[in-house]
This record gives sequence, structure tokens and C-alpha cells, in this order.
Amino acid sequence: MKKLAYIDTLVDGLKKEGVYRVLPINYGPCSNVIDLNHRSVVNLSSNNYLGLANHPRVKQKAIEAIEKYGVGAGSVRTIVGNQDLLETLENLLAEFKQEEAVVCFQSGLTCNLGTIPAIVQPGDLIISDSLNHASIIDGVRLAKADKAVYKHSDMIDLERILKEKREQYHQVIIISDGVFSMDGDLAKLPAIVKLAEQYNALVYVDDAHGSGVLGHSGRGTVDHFGLHGKIDFIVGTLSKAIGVVGGYVATKKNVKEWLLHRARPLLFSTAIPPMALGAIIESVKMLMESDEYTKKLWDNARYFKQGMHALGFDIGHSETPITPVMIGEEAKTMAFSKALLDEGVFVSGIVFPTVPLGTGRLRVMISAMHEKKDLDFALEAFAKVGRRMNIIL
Ligand SMILES: *Cc1c(COP(=O)(O)O)cnc(C)c1O
Repeated sequence: MKKLAYIDTLVDGLKKEGVYRVLPINYGPCSNVIDLNHRSVVNLSSNNYLGLANHPRVKQKAIEAIEKYGVGAGSVRTIVGNQDLLETLENLLAEFKQEEAVVCFQSGLTCNLGTIPAIVQPGDLIISDSLNHASIIDGVRLAKADKAVYKHSDMIDLERILKEKREQYHQVIIISDGVFSMDGDLAKLPAIVKLAEQYNALVYVDDAHGSGVLGHSGRGTVDHFGLHGKIDFIVGTLSKAIGVVGGYVATKKNVKEWLLHRARPLLFSTAIPPMALGAIIESVKMLMESDEYTKKLWDNARYFKQGMHALGFDIGHSETPITPVMIGEEAKTMAFSKALLDEGVFVSGIVFPTVPLGTGRLRVMISAMHEKKDLDFALEAFAKVGRRMNIIL
């Protein structure tokens, strides 16, 4: 008997459920058209919102950083991994986000895993939106505080929990995504802030899909709603619109001091490599210099959404460039995605358990790197497959 036979059983389970996948291979950069499994296809599935992942200016700064610093930080941040580029980046991000201080992590995921457990203690309560990102859910699991979940964006349910429980706890912290990544809807931040003020709670917003996308020149959801100074913890990622890798939390100076002592990914995992830091600093500078990238992103998103709407597709109620194309049944969703790939367009199908049963969709991610001809090509492919599969007339 093989010792790891039980893993075969688990993998067989995936196959029986029809969710087993072989990952496609991208043989080049993440751009508008990619070389996927050695086929050229229009890429409608990356988080590289502004096309910065492969921008010549950003690449050049990564090369310069390699030449000066090498390729690795060589240590965790709290020993000798605190390279000056990291300090420069944090100061730049604080200025960009108009917040007192910023702490960077190796990814958005490690930012949530490190920050959430560090800022609560036994006797505190975390209240989390039911559709929050997996990295928030895992950060909350690691925290030694009590937990409650409110129905997605349901302010009545959030207030019910606050009313019932506020008195029993020291700190209460409300945690929400800024932009929900499956539907592209925004958190009701003005209402959340109002409830937090009324019930003396803290607010933590993970703006991974909002930073670089919403607000003035991509300053994020908090800027979009004009709520500067009212959110206690604003998380962003450097892996999506910024185009590189990493995560950060923008907050107050004393929180930064505390996180540098207690956020475990800063103590037990090597710091962001210098080449990534060099690249990120350039990306953030480019956003601060000009809004041409965010403008092109939104122009493209509007163009594509209008096209899909005119064709008769149900594109949900997204308020961002994330465009879900609702298909419904799981098998039909996956078949649609496969048919699009045959037409030369890659869009991942998203089905249960990532989204509720029967609400399968294709999640189109529009980017500033797309040209009109890519979007027209994709619209034509959607029209063809949609008609053939009787999803549109
Ligand atoms: C993508 C995402 C993350 C993870 O960011 P990485 O930098 O890729 O680790 C965290 N939170 C939310 C809400 C996200 O959408």
C-alpha cells in the first residue's frame, strides 16, 4: 500500500466532480495577447489592470535594482532585509494613499495573514462580510478574537450584529473588501463608516482590486468615496494594477511600529526582493505622474461593457472593470469558456464553490493594455459562441 494513496483518492474526487484542471502555460509576458500553450490568444483574465507588469519603464527599474542590490533581500525584514528601497516605497505609498504610514508585505495575502491577527486580541470581535477574499478569511481564522459574519453588503445585518454584540467586547473591527472580485461591486463604505462611528468600531478595507483602478489616478476605493482619514486600515496589493508583487497596509504610525514587531510574515519570511521594489516604486510614480493608465483602463472597460450589453449578455451589476458574464449552469459555463478559447480568447469560467450554485459566469478582466482591436475580436467571439449556445439571440 502506497503511503500517499489517500492523495490519489482526493485527486480522483476532483476528477469525479469535474473540477480537475491542468494549468495552461503562458510562454511569455502577461500582455494583451498571450502565448498560451503555444497558441496566441487574447488575454481577458489577468489582474494586470494597467499593463504595468511588462512596461519598459518598470522593467528598466527592476534591472537597475538588480545591478545595485542583486536579486534577493537575503533576510527577513526584521533582521537585515530592510533595504532602503523598502523604506522609499513605504514613504511613497503613504504619500500616494494620503495616509500617515504604510507597511509593505511580500503579498496581499501575507499582508492580511500578518496584519489581522496582530491588531486584535482576546476580548475583541471581528465582523466580516460574507463574500470577503480568502486571504481575509484566513487572517481572521488566525486571529485570537471572536468572529461574526454579516450578509454580503447588508447594512441592516451589520447593524444587527453591532447592536447585539458591541457592548460585550473591547475593540470591534469591521472588515470588508473594497471591491468584491467576483461581481465587481463596491463595498458600501460610507454606510460602513457611519455605523462604525455610531458603534465605536474600527474599519479595515482590503482594496486589492480598487487600488490602481478607482479614485483619482488609482488611489483606491477610499479616495473614490472621499473617506480619507476615516478608515483605520487600508490594504492594497502591489501584484494587481501595480503589476509586480507585494501587499501593504496604509494606517497610523503607531500601528506600523506594532506591526514591525508582531506581524509574523515580517518576522518569519524573507522580505520583498529588491528588483520587485525597484519596479514597484516606478509603477507607483507613474500613477502619481499621470492618470493616462487609469483613463485608458476605464475607456476600455466602458467600450467592452457597452458591446456586451448591446449583444444582449447579462453582465451583472459591476461598478469596476471586472465584467462578469452570467451564464448560470456550471457545465455550460465551462463549455462556454472552452468554446471561447477555440475562438482565440481566454476567459476563465468561475463556478461553484467559488460562486453560488447556478450562478456560473465568465469573469472578464479588462485592462489598459488592450487595444480596441483586441476588444472587438473578443466581442465577436462572445457573439458567435453566445448565439451558438443560445445564450443570446
Ligand atoms: C488578490 C487579492 C489579494 C491577494 O493579493 P496578492 O498580492 O496576489 O497576494 C488579497 N485580497 C484581495 C481582496 C484580493 O483580491
